[in-house]
Amino acid sequence: MTEIKRFAVIGHPIAHSLSPRIHAFFSKQRRIPLEYSAIDATPEQFEAALEAFTAGGGDGVNITLPHKVRAAELCNELTERARRCGAANTLIRQDHGWLGDNTDGLGLVRDLTDRHGQDLRGRKVLLIGAGGAARGVAPALLDAGIKSLYIVNRTPSRTDALADALGEPARVHPRNFEDLRRLGGFDLVINATSAAREAALPFLPSSLIAPRGDAVDLSYGEVAIPFLAWARAAGGDVVIDGLGMLVEQAAEAFLRWHGVRPDTTAVYEELRASHALLTTAD
Ligand code: NAP
Repeated sequence: MTEIKRFAVIGHPIAHSLSPRIHAFFSKQRRIPLEYSAIDATPEQFEAALEAFTAGGGDGVNITLPHKVRAAELCNELTERARRCGAANTLIRQDHGWLGDNTDGLGLVRDLTDRHGQDLRGRKVLLIGAGGAARGVAPALLDAGIKSLYIVNRTPSRTDALADALGEPARVHPRNFEDLRRLGGFDLVINATSAAREAALPFLPSSLIAPRGDAVDLSYGEVAIPFLAWARAAGGDVVIDGLGMLVEQAAEAFLRWHGVRPDTTAVYEELRASHALLTTAD
């Protein structure tokens, strides 16, 4: 009898995570039996939680907020894109430890281009945040051909660290929140902070959204509402939450673990139906 492979997502908090549901859906669709659990671990508990899952024979792990940077440090090896990000969201079991990958950036770019028909080439982009998610999406946006990437973050040292890691001074511009009024409009504004979780979305001038500019909040559910409401009021054209990105990054992780890419449309539509209020684009 084939042994059922074991997977998990580790984060804190984790109760909101849709990843178990998405991977169960993919597993059924592709007829690949698997077990996928959600493990709640604070930063202090993270290393022990990963060790316990490894010792128990776990085959793959998704990493979510706030552990992606620490997870990359704990891997034996990193893919090129995870190394550039300095953050891992997908761990693949190897003989002697974990191979860390990062599928967030590809997930966002796929959602924007394939699902929402956006052309990212030549765009002036503002990235708000410099945590694990921002690190994941920044290299993929540059690879997709954007013209410039401005980054702001509450802790400026992290803005600078991310800009340095990206290593493209001609296209990447670290800035402060105080500069936002002077930067003009952006073709795409991305909220990659978890600020709304503590009801603390930073003040953003409406001038940030250029005419026909778009906006994405990487989060989904209730925490995405304040930014999406701001973006719509500021005149955003395509205004979307992170649900599509979530499904696409999960599909990419599934491909890395099982060697087969699931179809994402059905699970996206099912999840969208239960999060109906959160996008003006579909
Ligand atoms: P993280 O590593 O903990 O980073 C959090 C970011 O939010 C940092 O830039 C932090 O700034 C900023 N922040 C937190 N509280 C703030 C506040 N009160 N005011 C201003 N900035 C604040 O988390 P993450 O992994 O990057 O996740 C960020 C968001 O993206 C989460 O909502 C997560 O659910 C979402 N996400 C979605 C997907 C998807 O597939 N859709 C994937 C990844 C993440 P400091 O550096 O100053 O602390």
